[in-house]
Amino acid sequence: MKGMIVMDQRSAVYTADDFNTDAHVSPAAALERLKTGNRIYVEALDHVRDLSPARILDLFERGQRPFATVITCADSRVVPEHIFMAGLGEIFVIRVAGNVAGPIETASALYACEHLHTRLLLVLGHTHCGAIKAALEGEAGPMAPITGQISAAIGAETDPYQASVLNAEATARRLREESALHQLETAGALEIRTAIYHTHCGVVDFL
Ligand SMILES: [Zn+2]
Repeated sequence: MKGMIVMDQRSAVYTADDFNTDAHVSPAAALERLKTGNRIYVEALDHVRDLSPARILDLFERGQRPFATVITCADSRVVPEHIFMAGLGEIFVIRVAGNVAGPIETASALYACEHLHTRLLLVLGHTHCGAIKAALEGEAGPMAPITGQISAAIGAETDPYQASVLNAEATARRLREESALHQLETAGALEIRTAIYHTHCGVVDFL
């Protein structure tokens, strides 16, 4: 049964130690973990992770130790913990429509990278994004503060996928404009990366 195979794969990939994540994992290790999680997610029939009272208590007592920070869209179909098969305390998630980065999002990212020591900061855009569609169609409406940023990022691009790539890259650039994040990256203590989630099939393209 397909589901059982997936479960077997998952238990082979994740060990008990994975629930005891150390935030200081290298950017490469964090990226590999996200890639592995997404490969499992694409085939998985369900997302079973440790949400037990013991895990909740452990995170409360010992604090959170997320291995990566992800900035992504608020779209209800784009859920990083599911997409990467992560559990409680594993990913520091910042969500805002259009995965843009203003002062609030940047400050949140800085908190995660400086104080929680996540060494991978992933900007995760996605296909069929309503905010990007609104920007492409010049429909600002209530999303004007967001679509304005997206329009500046995508310029004359008309292809929705390329627009999502350009928008994610622009968010990564804006994050690098925060000098503390830039310094962390220059010092090799942080990698800022971009990726696109395919809303129709669940696959993440790491750019
Ligand atoms: Zn979106």
